[in-house]
Amino acid sequence: LTTVYAQPGTEGSKITFKPRYEHWIGGEWVPPVKGQYFENISPVNGKPFTEVARGTAEDIEAALDAAWAAAPAWGKTSVAERALVLHRIADRMEQNLEMLAVAETWDNGKPVRETINADIALAIDHFRYFAGAIRAQEGTLSQLDDNTTSYHFHEPLGVVGQIIPWNFPILMGVWKLAPALAAGNAVVLKPAEQTPASIMVLMELIADLLPPGVVNVVNGFGVEAGKPLASSPRIRKIAFTGETTTGRLIMQYASQNIIPVTLELGGKSPNIFFEDVAAAQDSFYDKALEGFAFFALNQGEVCTCPSRALIQEGIYDRLLADGVERVQQMVQGNPLDLNTQVGAQASNDQLQKILSYIDIGKQEGAKVLVGGERNVLDGDLAEGFYVSPTVFEGQNSMRIFQEEIFGPVLSVTRFSDYADAIRTANDTLYGLGAGVWARSGNLAYRAGRDIEAGRVWVNQYHNYPAHSAFGGYKSSGIGRENHLMMLDHYQQTKNLLVSYSEDAQ
Ligand code: NAD
Repeated sequence: LTTVYAQPGTEGSKITFKPRYEHWIGGEWVPPVKGQYFENISPVNGKPFTEVARGTAEDIEAALDAAWAAAPAWGKTSVAERALVLHRIADRMEQNLEMLAVAETWDNGKPVRETINADIALAIDHFRYFAGAIRAQEGTLSQLDDNTTSYHFHEPLGVVGQIIPWNFPILMGVWKLAPALAAGNAVVLKPAEQTPASIMVLMELIADLLPPGVVNVVNGFGVEAGKPLASSPRIRKIAFTGETTTGRLIMQYASQNIIPVTLELGGKSPNIFFEDVAAAQDSFYDKALEGFAFFALNQGEVCTCPSRALIQEGIYDRLLADGVERVQQMVQGNPLDLNTQVGAQASNDQLQKILSYIDIGKQEGAKVLVGGERNVLDGDLAEGFYVSPTVFEGQNSMRIFQEEIFGPVLSVTRFSDYADAIRTANDTLYGLGAGVWARSGNLAYRAGRDIEAGRVWVNQYHNYPAHSAFGGYKSSGIGRENHLMMLDHYQQTKNLLVSYSEDAQ
């Protein structure tokens, strides 16, 4: 039985987008000061489906005004009240899960089976996690002597700026919003210009649950809207997810205002398969093959995409052959079809970038084992942005092994022994994710510790629970997301040092 969701705006669809989205400021739709809009194109069919306010510094200022007006009262609400708001948001999202999932699929191009089971489901859980985490948070008290007490309080930062990318628009938004709101901050958020609509659908859905001005969303382009936000002296922190080159700029802007920065940046994650995974043809080996094919999840547009497979010599031929077969079985097609595993790339620019990297790989002498071209689907979807999952065989020094492609492109190479595996895995600028597949617990543990990456998955991949810290080593970023340690990124410590003595000191 196939379930294909109807296209937004057509009969039976879960969502009809507005023809135009203004900014979301102070709990209202607010037109852009300069009156400019841009078209938003669905990667599913390559056609525009709505237009969106094109923000500038003036709109950012208006959003900051609203956030500053809302921050003091929001920061003083009880943690129980804030937690309740987050729970209500989660409940509302859950009641509208399919609608949000279809909106996200249409805006971004990813399969609806992912948006239902991962993007939106994880976002809901994220709000619930931080609703619980904030209630469990405690300060500390030290008795310095009989009369002197040192208290440590967690206080909100105030107004914070958040800038997100296009690969998981709602989830990346919620990864940032949930902890910031739980900690008592007001937010100005700028979505990516490639995927500006789904987050506005979410704002509309939860509009009555948050006091006006606590969350403000200004759409627009990087330099026009992102820069005035990130460089504003009126934010107390900037949280950014995007490319490493943009991350460098964000850090420069923040340095002018001496504010904290968290950066979640690019990656070139190794997925290491040790010989002992293939001891027999069993479910463990099968799981490892699934791990091999995970590079195509979300069309490879994942910062932790396991884009380099490193396979030990003894099992190289067998695992590669079986892995390629697994890739050939992946179903690419209409993202609104629940059977589809691989959808469309998020934008035409991204499609072109991936195709140019496929050319680079071929010119470098890497061998294409499967894919290696654009996939033109039938009928309505012919102009959508689809790339066939592609597997290259080559060497780690090649550009396709070193540069982030951010598409369904896997580069495979071999290693001889443990030292060779770790050396190759760490031979990259990045350090975001990694995978280790091994039956030996000792081998898996050692490799997990020796790989320079903030998240190493062992005998699994692409699992993102709210209570596991996520973030990068090396050029992949600063700070962490998820986990309750995230609250520290949205709070400052107040030390109150009190003498209860009536005598002079
Ligand atoms: P990008 O850096 O081009 O854009 C990200 C955001 O920054 C967008 O909203 C954009 O408008 C804005 N921006 C661009 N220039 C700016 C400037 N000068 N000042 C302020 N804002 C600016 O990245 P992208 O192409 O949208 O996203 C893909 C990248 O994101 C990949 O490198 C990927 O690895 C990374 N990513 C990282 C994580 C993580 O958690 N580490 C998660 C998802 C994506």
